[in-house]
Amino acid sequence: MSNISASIITIGDELLIGQTLDTNSAWIAKALNNIGIDVLRRVAVGDDAVAIRRALDEELLQAGIVLITGGLGPTADDITKPFLCDYFGAKLVVDERVLSHVKELFVQRNRPFLERNLKQAEVPDNCTVLHNRIGTAPGMWFEKEGKVIISMPGVPFEMTAIMEDEVLPRLRHHFVSDALLHVTLITSGEGESFIAEKIQDLEAALPGHIKLAYLPSPGVVKLRLTGRGDNAEALMQELKMRQEEIANRLENIVIAMEDMPMEYILGKTLMHIGATLGLAESCTGGYLAHLITQVQGASQYFKGSIVCYQNEIKERILGVEKGIIEQYGVVSEETATAMAKSALTALNCDNSLSITGLLSPGVYDSPIPVGTVWMAVADKEKIRTKKFRFHYDRHLNKELAVQMGMLMIWKFLNNKI
Ligand code: AMP
Ligand code: MG
Repeated sequence: MSNISASIITIGDELLIGQTLDTNSAWIAKALNNIGIDVLRRVAVGDDAVAIRRALDEELLQAGIVLITGGLGPTADDITKPFLCDYFGAKLVVDERVLSHVKELFVQRNRPFLERNLKQAEVPDNCTVLHNRIGTAPGMWFEKEGKVIISMPGVPFEMTAIMEDEVLPRLRHHFVSDALLHVTLITSGEGESFIAEKIQDLEAALPGHIKLAYLPSPGVVKLRLTGRGDNAEALMQELKMRQEEIANRLENIVIAMEDMPMEYILGKTLMHIGATLGLAESCTGGYLAHLITQVQGASQYFKGSIVCYQNEIKERILGVEKGIIEQYGVVSEETATAMAKSALTALNCDNSLSITGLLSPGVYDSPIPVGTVWMAVADKEKIRTKKFRFHYDRHLNKELAVQMGMLMIWKFLNNKI
């Protein structure tokens, strides 16, 4: 038996003008997918009753579950609650449990409780109230002709709390029969067409209930196997077996057997070999240090970063020998090398990475092309350098630089460069 499918409607004028990025529907889609519910469509509409009604009517034609976020605030621009009341022919009643929770939150936050906050405790009398542990707007669960309509606030962390506490367990209980499982392996060093050639026969031999997806991003290709079946345990074993088979074929380009950001992969490697890392970051301004410290336990292997944006700091604080920058230029192999070597000493680390580059057009005419970044990775015995050329805007170039930097350290630690 296959599972029921869902649609997501996000509500808010801010979504339509691009002021707020709709992260809610991506999060919900992923969470639903994890429990085996397919998402048919994602729709965004403004705070407008006609538009909301049209979207809801339309989604209910196909989807068994419609999840809605947004428009539940206490201000006049948020109209989702009165709309739902009208749509389901309900009347608003004060829910005592919500009221005491809302009042408690106001006391905790030391804020005066206003008349309009009473509205937060009002719910349509024909819905199941979904408790919002961390906010004042409760979620609502309606049922109509065998279909389920769920409304949640737009604030992302409130929505995720309601999804986790209330919605996902209920959906799993009501609707999920088949398991939908994923396993991912991450590769680096070859493009997707090369990989596709190499595993052609393995891919062709996959059974109908297992699909393979190629997910390329700069420097990395992820291979995701998705399987569907009624026995989750057996399915997972089967997926792992296929993943293993592909990994064995691809051997030395596989860098991880699960889907995780590069900073976690790098952290695992550093922990495993018991080595420390230090950084000398110029054009990335500490962003790489930020990513590395996103990982819990990074203090065990990460020494720190010297954000040496100006040349003076590269020399005076990091310790790059005077004259090198002047002679070879700040974005050069020699400067990157000197930075990485100086970082080993300055930060007393086993391994270091330096990054120096020109991410977007500068104030002065530059002899080197925009997007050029030099990196060097070093330990006490050896050093490796690499020149990159990125072609996007400043922000994306920075993003690419840190990803490639992490990859470079990973390869260095694994003797792959
Ligand atoms: P609301 O429930 O409409 O009062 O939404 C409150 C706030 O949540 C908005 O001001 C947005 O900043 C944020 N928000 C609303 N919808 C979304 C969404 N789809 N994705 C991410 N953030 C959102
Ligand atoms: Mg809103």
